[in-house]
Amino acid sequence: MIKSSLKTFLQPMQVVVAAACLSVVSCSQPNPKAVVAQAPEVQRAAWELPKDGEAKTYLSECETEFKKLAVELDSFSGRTLVSGKSLLDKLNKMDMISDAQMSKAGLYSSVHPNMEVRSAAETCEQHFVEINTDISLSRAIYDQLRKIDASKLSLEDKRYLERTLRDYHRSGVDKDEATRAKIKKLSEEINLVGQEFDKNYRDGGKKIEVNSAKDLDGLPKDYIDRHQPNTDGKIILTTDSPDYIPLMQYAKNDALRERAYKTYRSMAYPENKAVLEKLLAKRYELAQLLGYNDYAAYVTEDKMIKSPKNAQEFIDKVSTLATPRAQEEYTVLLKRLQKIDPKATRVNDWQKMYLQELIKKEKYQVDAQKIRQYFPYAKVQQGIFDLTQAMFGVTIKPWQTQTWHPSVKAFEVYDGDKVIGRFYLDMHPREGKYKHAAQFGIQSGIKEVQLPVAALVCNFPGGENPNELLEHSDVETFLHEFGHLLHTMFSGNHERVSFSGVRTEWDFVEAPSQMLEEWVWDADTLASFARNEKGEVIPKDLVDKMRDGRDFGRGLWTKHQLFYAATSLNLYNKNPAEIDLDKITAQIQATYSPFGYVDGTHFYASFGHLNGYSAIYYTYMWSLVIASDMFSEFEKQGLRNQAVALKYRNSVLAPGGSKDAADLVSEFLGRPFSFDAFAKKLEK
Ligand SMILES: [Zn+2]
Repeated sequence: MIKSSLKTFLQPMQVVVAAACLSVVSCSQPNPKAVVAQAPEVQRAAWELPKDGEAKTYLSECETEFKKLAVELDSFSGRTLVSGKSLLDKLNKMDMISDAQMSKAGLYSSVHPNMEVRSAAETCEQHFVEINTDISLSRAIYDQLRKIDASKLSLEDKRYLERTLRDYHRSGVDKDEATRAKIKKLSEEINLVGQEFDKNYRDGGKKIEVNSAKDLDGLPKDYIDRHQPNTDGKIILTTDSPDYIPLMQYAKNDALRERAYKTYRSMAYPENKAVLEKLLAKRYELAQLLGYNDYAAYVTEDKMIKSPKNAQEFIDKVSTLATPRAQEEYTVLLKRLQKIDPKATRVNDWQKMYLQELIKKEKYQVDAQKIRQYFPYAKVQQGIFDLTQAMFGVTIKPWQTQTWHPSVKAFEVYDGDKVIGRFYLDMHPREGKYKHAAQFGIQSGIKEVQLPVAALVCNFPGGENPNELLEHSDVETFLHEFGHLLHTMFSGNHERVSFSGVRTEWDFVEAPSQMLEEWVWDADTLASFARNEKGEVIPKDLVDKMRDGRDFGRGLWTKHQLFYAATSLNLYNKNPAEIDLDKITAQIQATYSPFGYVDGTHFYASFGHLNGYSAIYYTYMWSLVIASDMFSEFEKQGLRNQAVALKYRNSVLAPGGSKDAADLVSEFLGRPFSFDAFAKKLEK
């Protein structure tokens, strides 16, 4: 996941987003390293924390920057007009002010140890969201932009102008004044309704009451120890992941799992039903005002997939492909269930995870307890640094600078003797900190102006003692997020903010990170750092078993993801007046998931992506198709082949948003991307 001001002010801000990159490096250069070395040696500004991190100081800085941006916006109503490249430079400068403040606000509201600063960051963010909307609807800017003679611009600036005009058009700037006023009002309302949807979901957790410790039979001892009965003898669990997931994986009590599932799938219900209906209606109205059939048509237009029709076809194509494998896996689950309950004729959704765990353990001897002893935090971090250095020919060194918390570490990335980017690792939980794992963009890298700066914000063990053990899935998450970070570092040399970092098409942005995940399933890579307390290397046959265990369930997992993707798309690709939320989501679940719909559940009320991602949950699967294809090149040429890795760095990562993602991928592969590698994985 990426959290950053992915969008420039010309596009609506998204709450949860991926980053993008930029690059000045030409992809057609035969020697990528030589190109990097040719860049002029200009001192680029470092990012510094404010000297005094208190809320007041921070807010006054925010206000100063806000005023600067307001003056810039105001200047368009005067008589002095700028044109050509100077106008693009001016817009880029405005973009930099907004980007810096939005990024800082995003980071501070999620990680700053001082609660006042966190809330000041939210205030600052709101101000910038408002002014960004004003900029995106400014007729004065748009009219001047349209007068630019593109033939006099560089290739990259031609694209910049084209994209900017496209985004202005998409914002509705060329509508009449009354319509623009309606658009502005609707955009603000959508933002508020969306916040309400998210808030209800955040606060919508429910309790699951368990009668006695006996009902927790099958769960690990540390879980049972953590959940002691209260004075009434009841054990109270919650729908939060640390309680819910192990319960669904390990609890032998089927009735308890069924009850927990129904509770979990009714989070934020009924309150979010009406909120979601309102959100769908307002987005539909906005799309219609902007001249689109529906909101899905609006939101897919600037993605690789281009249209809701293509998205639906993609979902159905993958579904057809995954069905045989999913059916086979379903039969295995049913047979295992029949050993427990000989009368069972079907597997229900609340039995899926439990049966999958049993099979992984019995059939593939995948024992998570045994695996984790090879992953002490410090070794994993060093292993990921070493892998990056070996693949991409860079060096990572400690960066002497202040951080926002003593547990946060800072590093610099060197290409030869030149620093190309800086990053922070904020890797361990603490109170008031963001709860998931994400890359936060902090400063967009701008050619000759400023270096890229980003942070990984995660919640891994190892904060108290660097030898605390990570799960293998944590190692995968670490490398995934590190992939976004590398994208940001390697693409930090463009002139325009909107091409910098991970600002590529949204349905491509996960591909580089999803591809990198493959390295944590590679025995040679793991052997380079995964060692237990005695210094023993992780055995190859253990890694082989892990890989077999990983493959089992791939068909079912895919179908489940398609159920999410189809739900997200089909709530937004029609007039919401025709939608009965309970009916349509039950139908979609029955179509895509072999486990079918469970009566009395209302999953849409807590499907958080319906706000942030709206119609485009398909992006995860779409990125995975491309990630699989890009990985096939490494499979052919060697996972540690530096020439391939450097070609990848320069053709896919470094260009950021300066070219279409499809072109970046074909430059790397020497052909357009295809579905084959992904299809093969599902056939296995
Ligand atoms: Zn991600």
